[in-house]
Amino acid sequence: MFQTLLYYCYTPLADPEQFRDEHHRLCLDLQLLGRIIVAAEGLNGTVSGTRENCAAYMAAVKADPRFAALEFKIDDVLAHTFQKLHVRVKPEIVHSSLHHVRPHELTGQHLTPQEFKELKDRDDVVVVDVRSDYEYNLGRFKNAVTLDMENFRDFPERVEQLRKFKNKKILTYCTGGVKCEKASAYLLEQGFENVYQLHGGIIKYGHEVGGEDFDGQCYVFDTRVAVDVNRINPVIISYCHNCQQPSARIVDCANPHCNGHFTQCEACGEALQGACAETCAQHPNKRPYDGTGTYPKISNHYNPAQGLVSSRRKVAD
Ligand SMILES: [Zn+2]
Ligand SMILES: [Zn+2]
Repeated sequence: MFQTLLYYCYTPLADPEQFRDEHHRLCLDLQLLGRIIVAAEGLNGTVSGTRENCAAYMAAVKADPRFAALEFKIDDVLAHTFQKLHVRVKPEIVHSSLHHVRPHELTGQHLTPQEFKELKDRDDVVVVDVRSDYEYNLGRFKNAVTLDMENFRDFPERVEQLRKFKNKKILTYCTGGVKCEKASAYLLEQGFENVYQLHGGIIKYGHEVGGEDFDGQCYVFDTRVAVDVNRINPVIISYCHNCQQPSARIVDCANPHCNGHFTQCEACGEALQGACAETCAQHPNKRPYDGTGTYPKISNHYNPAQGLVSSRRKVAD
């Protein structure tokens, strides 16, 4: 049995480079795969591994007093949900262009999933999705305000759209909570007074209160792409790009030059052999379609330890 872990912690790390090297070694020893970002402001990660190795990893992280406030969101899965391991140093643990915001000093009030559920439908409350368009298009809370962002970097620009809610309680949410730490802090900085955030995000809300009123599925950044959240009153809100029938199946276009990342039902996938349109289906470099709609990068001879060498380079992001 395997698990997928999702976690973050805003906490000052004096030497991110050194921390990264040690942390990478820990992950290699435990044969974890996934994506971890280390910054002077903290740690943000999602990894998969065997249940035993995940337990050892969680114990090792929690043994460090800097991560006392870190919470792991744990999903049981059948196998690894990543193909590689990346442990990288970046300027921020979520790319936000809000470098100056320090959530461990000031952030919106944390709400437990139960508290969020009780507050979200009140007249004096507005629920704000701080994720990107491709995420909320796949699933979001009923009546949530979305901000038409391609990337979280756009958030500061979109705050103008929230001014009209200034006298209401603002409840932000995201996948696992990490974006809300900065988004809610930024709202406070911009003069919003009643700012709350769903602690642990959609994932924890699904685990703890059954995901009630979350429509569609939750986008995740691993090979599962989308996970079910709502066991109480689920509805489908996404539709096949080709035939507009309800579908929650996210695929990559079989034409490697297209970059299409879209929703397609199985029938249309079969008919177009995994392409988003006839032009892509006819492309000379079109990849063979195996029915999954995903095309793993060639990872033959992949050695996660190689990343230890190559990722010493600083990523300019
Ligand atoms: Zn279709
Ligand atoms: Zn295409």
